[in-house]
Amino acid sequence: MTSTEYLVTIGLEVHVQLKTRSKMWCGCANSYGDVPNSNTCPVCLGLPGSLPVMNEEAVRKTILTGLMFGCNIPGQCKWDRKNYFYADMPKNYQISQYDLPLCLDGAVILHDLAYPKDAQKDIVDHDKKIRLTRIHLEEDVAKSFHYESTSGIDFNRAGSPLMEIVSEPDIGSPEEAFAYLTSLRQTLLYGDVSDADMEKGQMRCDVNISVRPAGQKDYNPKVELKNLNSISAVRRGLVFEIQRQIEAIEDGETLRQETRRWDDAAGITTTMRTKEMAHDYRYFPDPDLLPVHTVEIVEDVQEHLPELPHEKRDRYVKDYGVTAYDAAVLANDLPLAAYFEDAAQDAKNPKGIANWIMNDLQAALSASATPIENCPVPAGKLKDLVDLVDAGRINSKQAKEIFGIVFEKGGDPKEIVKDPKYAPVDEGEVEGFIDKVIAENPKPAEDYAAGNDKSLNFLKGQVMKLSRGKANPRKVGEIIAQKLRG
Ligand code: ZN
Ligand code: MN
Repeated sequence: MTSTEYLVTIGLEVHVQLKTRSKMWCGCANSYGDVPNSNTCPVCLGLPGSLPVMNEEAVRKTILTGLMFGCNIPGQCKWDRKNYFYADMPKNYQISQYDLPLCLDGAVILHDLAYPKDAQKDIVDHDKKIRLTRIHLEEDVAKSFHYESTSGIDFNRAGSPLMEIVSEPDIGSPEEAFAYLTSLRQTLLYGDVSDADMEKGQMRCDVNISVRPAGQKDYNPKVELKNLNSISAVRRGLVFEIQRQIEAIEDGETLRQETRRWDDAAGITTTMRTKEMAHDYRYFPDPDLLPVHTVEIVEDVQEHLPELPHEKRDRYVKDYGVTAYDAAVLANDLPLAAYFEDAAQDAKNPKGIANWIMNDLQAALSASATPIENCPVPAGKLKDLVDLVDAGRINSKQAKEIFGIVFEKGGDPKEIVKDPKYAPVDEGEVEGFIDKVIAENPKPAEDYAAGNDKSLNFLKGQVMKLSRGKANPRKVGEIIAQKLRG
């Protein structure tokens, strides 16, 4: 049997650390990488007698996230205690939201470029919608460190705002899971609600997966995967787990509901706990916190919605005339998009600028491992360079050379072209070259005149040689065409 005879059902739970100044229930700084246990107080340490005060910024950012994904925001939400016992949770309960979360419904749309590069050609279901169940707000726990014979715990993270985004089981493959997380993260970055870096734990993902033979109506028990520390690890973990479940089914084993841990180095999942060990969280409303009326916050946030990725893509096509693909590549990365807009804003040829960014600039950046934020070629200088090419002042070979100089050493393209090396070619001189080439190459000239377009390149090449590469090949082609075809 092959895997095409199996149905794969995947749902994701994603925890996202919100970018707020203070923690969820106290005034301690919500920051990453500080001295351990330096951002703590009686509230986030769970000391007796301390009381929580809600962070409105966190509520606003969660509502903003919900609006960006088209969620419904109920008029009222409330806070519940989720009870469990673990060393990294000072109060022995987590303040979370049970039956009245901040956001319901909504969806994440999977754009083609969100899929892994090697899978983009196989996309069948373009712009597939993955429905969201809910988004709620809760607090994060402390972080444990395990040493040889002791453990340490850092409460800086305890009580910081954490958003939980739960999807419906609409995801049908590891590649779709990858695209879901990539799209989700992109929108979170657009909204500036989180830096959402999985490697820093700012975005953490639990995956539920169930595999069953096509034709079987009931789902097989689901397996929850943990310890997935990057978007590509989610894909790898799922590829393994799908195959493992298929093999188990084919061997006649009964699948059980369990939580499995992904070992990225070994490339396998192993059992962490089975259903018998499942928690009973005994949720109940937090008596220390009032319900939240959301209507006014929603109205206010609605007025300040950021441009969304699909809106940016559409605008680039409409305003700058770039292709849908180019628009998607440029909008994929916010700093890159900002650079493009900076250069293209008043440019005569935004399409030409997009080409330079996507080819020469990105190649130079990646070869030197430079992020676009530190790009040594200011956006305005790239625009000047493209203008010089468009005006026929330099040809594209010279432009590449000047680009290289500006990238390596800095400088201004408008100044660099003053170098005698880039002196404009005399048009009369070029015309002389053209006449000479036509006279000395009667056969290709006749062929071209008779309609053979290929001969033009040969003639152009000869003229370029005579001009020592200085002539503008496009102009040379135009003049030859005029002379031979009239
Ligand atoms: Zn605190
Ligand atoms: Mn949670």
